[in-house]
Amino acid sequence: MTTIAVIPGDGIGPEVVEQAMVVLDRLGIGLKFDVLDHVNATSYLRDGSTLETADMDRVRSGAGILLGAIGDPRVRSVDYAREILLRLRFELDLYVNYRPARLLHDRLSPLRDPARRAIDCVLVRENTEGLYVDVGGTVREGTDHETAIDAEVSTYFGVSRVIGFALRAARHGVCMVDKANAVRNSGELWQRCWRDLGEAHPELVKTHLYVDVAAMRLVEDPASFEVIVTNNSYGDILSDLAAQVAGGLGAAASANINPESGAGLYEPVHGSAPDIAGTGTANPFGAILSGAMLLDQLGRTDEANAVRGAVDRAVAARRCTVDLGGQLGTADAGRAVVSEL
Ligand code: ATP
Ligand code: MG
Repeated sequence: MTTIAVIPGDGIGPEVVEQAMVVLDRLGIGLKFDVLDHVNATSYLRDGSTLETADMDRVRSGAGILLGAIGDPRVRSVDYAREILLRLRFELDLYVNYRPARLLHDRLSPLRDPARRAIDCVLVRENTEGLYVDVGGTVREGTDHETAIDAEVSTYFGVSRVIGFALRAARHGVCMVDKANAVRNSGELWQRCWRDLGEAHPELVKTHLYVDVAAMRLVEDPASFEVIVTNNSYGDILSDLAAQVAGGLGAAASANINPESGAGLYEPVHGSAPDIAGTGTANPFGAILSGAMLLDQLGRTDEANAVRGAVDRAVAARRCTVDLGGQLGTADAGRAVVSEL
């Protein structure tokens, strides 16, 4: 038996993760789920608990983590999400955030020109540094001179390992994205790592774009990208853009991984979507496709491809939720994938 730790979380998280478990279970490959259903905003509001040490032990002993979403409008403090998500990312050192964007069906593209719709790229987002390190502070608080500072931290170690991963993941080309023309210090470090690591990959076409141009190009000619590597905040923004160009947030999957230790956390790109939570209408495909990425990590490539194929066929047959042009609810969309399998 292979144990998967599951954190359903908040909002639509439990609804979509349940469908991912149904699909994974149906493969009959001996997966066992250790569900941490107490890690959510309700527990936090009751007694302040987040991800306790005993939970971390359970998470560490599994072969991978499947997560729904963390976030609740009743919790205003950013500490709640930070203590769960960022604890997992930092303690397990999940420095690669791997976000594929592949057009599921032609009708889902927001682009007018049919010849330019075929996005099939991977966004590799640095996941442990940048603007997310919580270094900074506020001075003269509450006055008209209040000044807030959030430092962007980049290290040679952190940048070179994520660039190295992106270069190894590509078959044809990698595009490095930064804003070195305006953000000088981090920019120069990214540029230096890019040169140093790129030398070992003469087989790849290596390009560089400033983030503003990259955003434009992702809409103008998305098929020109294979692997994009960038920092934490640009990766956050560009991956939502790429997900939308690929047909929608509800079907976008992601993996937070440490390629050396093999630790991995798999989650849909969308969040808790409180506006539709409890209505049974959430699209479970992002969670199901995140489960497929977990299968990749377990070495179950055939099963992973089978799940992706089943999702493709369900979308093509409009056996899907409203956001993808179907009429099914969450559970029926999950069942459609199972029957396509
Ligand atoms: P969070 O703070 O947890 O990220 P959010 O309010 O930003 O939550 P998201 O989950 O990021 O909400 O999603 C933004 C919007 O996209 C939602 O309000 C919802 O309408 C839509 N959406 C997101 N995920 C899905 C899904 N799986 N199925 C259908 N619609 C979705
Ligand atoms: Mg969100």
